Amino acid sequence: VTAVLGSHAKNMHYTVIVSLDGCRWDYPQWYDTPFFDKMSTIGVESGLIPSFPSKTFPNHYALATGLYPDHHGIIANEFFDRESGEYFSLGDPAQKINPKFYGGEPIWVTAKKQGVRTAVFYWPGSDVKVKGMYPDLYYVYDQKPRLSSSERINGIIHQLQKPEKERPHLIMAYFEQPDANGHAFGPQSKETRKAVVMVDSLMHELYDKIQQLPIAQDINFIVVSDHGMSWIAKAHAIPIAKYLKKDWVIKESGSIPCNIYVRDHCADSVVNALKDVAHLKVWKKEEIPAYLHYGSNSRVGDVVALPDIGYSVTEGTVKDGGQHGYDPNLMDMHALFRAIGPDFRHVNAPHFKNVDVYPLLCFLLGIQPAPNDGQVPMEILNPKTLRK
Ligand code: AMP
Ligand code: ZN
Ligand code: ZN
Repeated sequence: VTAVLGSHAKNMHYTVIVSLDGCRWDYPQWYDTPFFDKMSTIGVESGLIPSFPSKTFPNHYALATGLYPDHHGIIANEFFDRESGEYFSLGDPAQKINPKFYGGEPIWVTAKKQGVRTAVFYWPGSDVKVKGMYPDLYYVYDQKPRLSSSERINGIIHQLQKPEKERPHLIMAYFEQPDANGHAFGPQSKETRKAVVMVDSLMHELYDKIQQLPIAQDINFIVVSDHGMSWIAKAHAIPIAKYLKKDWVIKESGSIPCNIYVRDHCADSVVNALKDVAHLKVWKKEEIPAYLHYGSNSRVGDVVALPDIGYSVTEGTVKDGGQHGYDPNLMDMHALFRAIGPDFRHVNAPHFKNVDVYPLLCFLLGIQPAPNDGQVPMEILNPKTLRK
């Protein structure tokens, strides 16, 4: 195993990894997904345990770096950076691509440093100049119009058709569905069914096109997601402002969970004021349970309030629909994982942590990983690959 690490051999296989935002691990059990089922019959069927909080940016960047959000720095989709007074949010295009927020080493940087080419279609973080580098090919998410789904798929194929010297060994792509319909209509809805069927057939189309390439036998194909989706009802808002004195709190950020930044010595008052609120768990950052791997980063709120599944911390209203962000151990938050190709085994494997994906990709590419929180999921790999 260690023999191949650090020595990217000319004969390493190619890897295509696609993320389908908000694709629950069990959608294929609910909805008609012939391609995901086909992947299960030839390759790896499993699920990913997201990192806390089970939101899009923290988890795509955990997949890319092998680090928990607490360690890579994108600790939520929106957060306050006390040291600079700056605020990160997906709605602030300038801060969203500010390299200072992005710690760790994403796979495309690890690859580039070791002479391995990458092409990335919209993976969160890929249009940020992390450690002074971008993937060899990347697209700016805020540049409109965005590539359509078919343009992303044809773009992947185009990269794999390049002459060997220019051909990237790692291609990553991101798709917005089924998260969008999951939020708007809930996981169990005809609209989300439609979105899941659509992404299944898109992945089928991509696979068929890969199969027609002369190097088809050398291509690993992985489909992942960042988190699941659970039903939330409009009655399930948890307003907290009424319990808090204004001079305790500097800022509240986010709903699932809510990071609360407080004035000096006010954390206990805030925890005491919220501890009996129904359907809410409240911790000082030092007291967050260890399994959540959250609270050491200075960007985490002094107090973290995490609603029970199906609830949201907000002064406003909640719409009937879908949400995520909850405790990663809840099965509703687990994400899809399928993989096929020369380096994978045919196995139905227990769900594993999404921080393991970075070391997996490094292993597949034969490159040395940067320090990370994961480990190579050996149980899903082809025994022949492990003997190499
Ligand atoms: P959420 O469901 O709140 O965790 O975030 C999902 C949303 O993030 C989706 O609606 C995407 O449109 C959006 N998103 C994905 N990538 C990016 C990006 N690079 N910049 C801004 N928003 C993004
Ligand atoms: Zn997401
Ligand atoms: Zn979402």
